Amino acid sequence: ARMVFSVKSVFTVFSGMSLTVSTSDIIVNEVPKVERIGAHSHIYGLGLDDSLNAATDNQGMVGQIKARRAAGLIVKMIKDGKIAGRAILITGEPGTGKTALAMGISKAISAQTPFVSMTASEVYSVDMSKTEILTQAIRKAIGVTIAEKKTVISGEVVSVETERPQNGIGKRTGKITLKTTDMEAVFDIGSKMIETVIRDRISAGDVIRIDKTNGTIERLGRSALRNRGFDAVSNSVSEVPCPDGELEKHVELVDTVALHEIDAINSRAQGYLTVFSGDTGEIKSEIREAVDKKINEWREQERARIVPGVLFIDEVHVLDLECFAFLNRAMEGEFAPIIVMATNRGMTQIRGTSFVSAHGVPVDLLDRALIVKTVPYSEEEVKQILIIRARAENVTLSPGALVGLAKIFEKTNSLRYAMQLITVSDILRQRAKAAEIQPEHVKKAYSMFHDVHRVKKLLEDNGEQYITYT
Ligand code: ATP
Repeated sequence: ARMVFSVKSVFTVFSGMSLTVSTSDIIVNEVPKVERIGAHSHIYGLGLDDSLNAATDNQGMVGQIKARRAAGLIVKMIKDGKIAGRAILITGEPGTGKTALAMGISKAISAQTPFVSMTASEVYSVDMSKTEILTQAIRKAIGVTIAEKKTVISGEVVSVETERPQNGIGKRTGKITLKTTDMEAVFDIGSKMIETVIRDRISAGDVIRIDKTNGTIERLGRSALRNRGFDAVSNSVSEVPCPDGELEKHVELVDTVALHEIDAINSRAQGYLTVFSGDTGEIKSEIREAVDKKINEWREQERARIVPGVLFIDEVHVLDLECFAFLNRAMEGEFAPIIVMATNRGMTQIRGTSFVSAHGVPVDLLDRALIVKTVPYSEEEVKQILIIRARAENVTLSPGALVGLAKIFEKTNSLRYAMQLITVSDILRQRAKAAEIQPEHVKKAYSMFHDVHRVKKLLEDNGEQYITYT
């Protein structure tokens, strides 16, 4: 899998960064991605109220209330910054919504939270080392928001003084005395600001905002507005009072970019062309260290903010000891994302060892994990999920078709299979020019595509017709 970055567009985003690239496109070897997010596009939160009870708007989530509550608590811990160094492990039978829950967690943190989903087996690649794949995944799940710092102050004008130079030659000078939320201060104003003061007749009692970075003054209203408080007049911008009474406004310039993208751009910028020429596809550690250093500098200057995302690792029992040790360390890292793992295994041998452990996860990692369990769905819940899913796919199921799909779930015990048949049935419906999916479309779809149980049965019955490896 390859990923093409248009450097020019990214370049302008990082105006302050020491990037010197001018090439148009960079081709980067990427970790092969199994797209599993589409199946969860109907989920946009955990559907909980403030007391962690099921809310009227379930945000696409059905049932699983115990697991959702636990997940809601985790989200709270994340928001309060109390999750550092801990992992989350979701366990439960296949198709019980482990990925859905992880998606709900990420959406509940914020709609902008980076969410990276991978299957543990993706680490076994011939192109890259396991730890490189995990590092890339981790850094994809860490967002960086670049902001520009502006110095602004808003308050009520106490007095305005402007003076012409004594000899009448040269620029006017001026001073404004401003009463802010907690102090009174005098500001020198330049000619551009004086022009505004004269033009807009700014005088005592006006509420204004002085933008010291741009050298401008803006009138916000009359002091009567102050009865509603300064917040009301200063919009919703985050204005943080500084010790000297000034206010700083951070203007967000860009969306969040993944740390991995910055690594990739800088690899190219610093001339490590071979990095991407297919040899190993790995990013050198010096590059990552340099990027981290730069981001840290920006953070100190309050020009960048780290947005920890969620890295979801499904089938985590497939990882070996080296990967687990790596994850253990990564969780302590400076910019760690929230690592959510999932497995449907019980007691399992830890890959590459002779040890058997719960869920195939080493005890030290289990010990620091918050473990959430999902449980099988009732028939009613399955129907609910199918309805939500059909709505998300813009498909209308007739009541008979819904019963048919629910029966298929019961027979195959696979929610994912039943859900996939919605799409297939809808194509059959279109061909039959019917208004909504009817039971016969579902039946036909079922006969066309095998589920795991039927494949297994077929092989048991007709195994001799196939080539087998043991
Ligand atoms: P596996 O163990 O096979 O990886 P899983 O436990 O991760 O499965 P999911 O992939 O999350 O299961 O669930 C299967 C499908 O059902 C997905 O499309 C998912 O979005 C949907 N789904 C599962 N649980 C819920 C739920 N509680 N509410 C809404 N949709 C759900």
